[in-house]
Amino acid sequence: MKRKAAFALVRPPGHHAEPARGMGFCMFNNAGIAARAFAVATGEPVLIADFDYHHGNGSQALVGNGISYLSTHAMPAYPGTGSANDNRLTPGASLVNVPLSASGISTEAFVAIWVKGLRAIAKRLRPSLLVVSAGYDFILGDPVGDLASSRAWPRSSAASCERSRTRIVTAARCFVLKAATIPTCSPAAFRHDRRV
Ligand SMILES: [Zn+2]
Repeated sequence: MKRKAAFALVRPPGHHAEPARGMGFCMFNNAGIAARAFAVATGEPVLIADFDYHHGNGSQALVGNGISYLSTHAMPAYPGTGSANDNRLTPGASLVNVPLSASGISTEAFVAIWVKGLRAIAKRLRPSLLVVSAGYDFILGDPVGDLASSRAWPRSSAASCERSRTRIVTAARCFVLKAATIPTCSPAAFRHDRRV
């Protein structure tokens, strides 16, 4: 079946909301709901890729039953979850946390993590759907996050997701955008994500 891309511009973003409670401005886990609905409807594997500054504790809580989760996030930072010690590579229930120093990371290193990491995980899991939990509060100057990454990174991240889809897996992809806290970052990110 040929599947098309989807784009969701939603607030609140959702990745902190757990199945039974809201957290961190998130009432509903929009990316998680999309992933779960797809997995239940098709029985096919889904990978949620999350590059928000904060760890998605709610998305991690959904791992299993065909849903896998890959996240880069600052540590220590809210909500305090996301340890690499939790990682596991199990078909249909993989968890890959990549905690980064809250003091920041170079844009080049951040891009490399996503280009290599996403490609490797996608190749191993071969998801039918890639759901991108696209939070941009890691960008330099963001008052809530800020991993010191350049505003040029959204283009690389989206392109990496796209390459992973076309070259390694046959997954459709769905971008769930949580804009940056910096208003001037959001339009650029939105313009690129909207095309994928
Ligand atoms: Zn965040």
